Amino acid sequence: MTHPIQPPRLGEPYLLTPGPLTTAYTTKAAMLRDWGSWDSDFRAMTADLRARLTAMLGAGGEACDCVPMQGSGTFAVEAMLGSFVPREGHALVLANGAYGQRAAETLSYLGRRHRLLDKGDYLPPRGAEVAEILAENPDITHVVAIHCETSSGILNPLAEIAEAVARAGRKLLIDAMSSFGAVPVAPAEIPFEALVSSANKCIEGVPGFGFVLARKEALEEAAGNSHSLSLDLHAQWAHMEATGQWRFTPPTHAVAAFLEALRLHEAEGGVTGRGARYAENRDVLVAGMRALGFETLLADRWQSPIITTFFCPADPAFSFPAFYEAMKARGFIIYPGKLTVVESFRLGHIGQVDAEVMRAVVRAAGEALAEMGVTSAAPPAAALEHRARLTD
Ligand SMILES: *Cc1c(COP(=O)(O)O)cnc(C)c1O
Repeated sequence: MTHPIQPPRLGEPYLLTPGPLTTAYTTKAAMLRDWGSWDSDFRAMTADLRARLTAMLGAGGEACDCVPMQGSGTFAVEAMLGSFVPREGHALVLANGAYGQRAAETLSYLGRRHRLLDKGDYLPPRGAEVAEILAENPDITHVVAIHCETSSGILNPLAEIAEAVARAGRKLLIDAMSSFGAVPVAPAEIPFEALVSSANKCIEGVPGFGFVLARKEALEEAAGNSHSLSLDLHAQWAHMEATGQWRFTPPTHAVAAFLEALRLHEAEGGVTGRGARYAENRDVLVAGMRALGFETLLADRWQSPIITTFFCPADPAFSFPAFYEAMKARGFIIYPGKLTVVESFRLGHIGQVDAEVMRAVVRAAGEALAEMGVTSAAPPAAALEHRARLTD
């Protein structure tokens, strides 16, 4: 039995994007009142949110605490990097897409010394190469890893990366933005200093804030590191511990919606249940799209349950803008690709969507191709040559 989803109301499209995404009706409805940020009711909501997110970590999570931060996910990533990498620190960024590149760019803005392991658009950084770089560079203090690189949909091998980092005695900072809540990251298995995620991804809340889950010791040690007044995680944490309040105006309605989203997450069976629904979504979608002739960028073993990249068909009758409009006309908002070499598009399979919705997406894609006069969804040969590099 699959968990019943709450579909969007009639006339609203499904968002096949990795956040903002299609949220449950009850999540949206939870925002229909106002809260005073200073009031004890809202302070209790904040405490509840922090406790539930920390508990979601699973084994080893007792050593951690949760610090929510206003803004989109990128604000929380910047807060994490600026608060945990000290000014004299040196970070190794593991990049294979836009979000790894953004982490490196953020460190440049912050004036933090860093180097990049750039794997291109979709090859995963492996534990062995991380171990080698760390052995050669004893002055590297932190490693920054992206769990699910949302720009391709690859699920990076976090366990082997975390093991290499721990073995070398360095500290791991994780961008788990698009995976947290659907892919397990128990600190007992994946030792880390801090990880970051946001309200509008796998927990299925509305946009408005991110959150960092960090070892309490790391939070204590972070005092004075931050370059920024508003993005200082230590200051936000210390203030919340002392007063129960956010330092500056909190996104009250987004927090209320998030608590309902957390309730639904729990009712679905937590990380396991949510991860299972997303994995089934992916499997149904990928099988259906392949039956239409589409090809995925990634080999199955690297494919996350979050979002899938498909190559655009080589057929000259295909155009992404026309495909986008044809899908929108059928009630689905899709997502353009982010690869630098070949044309692609992405379909997210997170949010209030299930296998039945995925079958409707495949039907819509088939109709869209027919409408455009596309006879083959096969990608250009160059795309397949690219993919052949991903055979390890
Ligand atoms: C969504 C996302 C972010 C944050 O993006 P925002 O647009 O700032 O919310 C960061 N990293 C990854 C991997 C993401 O998927």
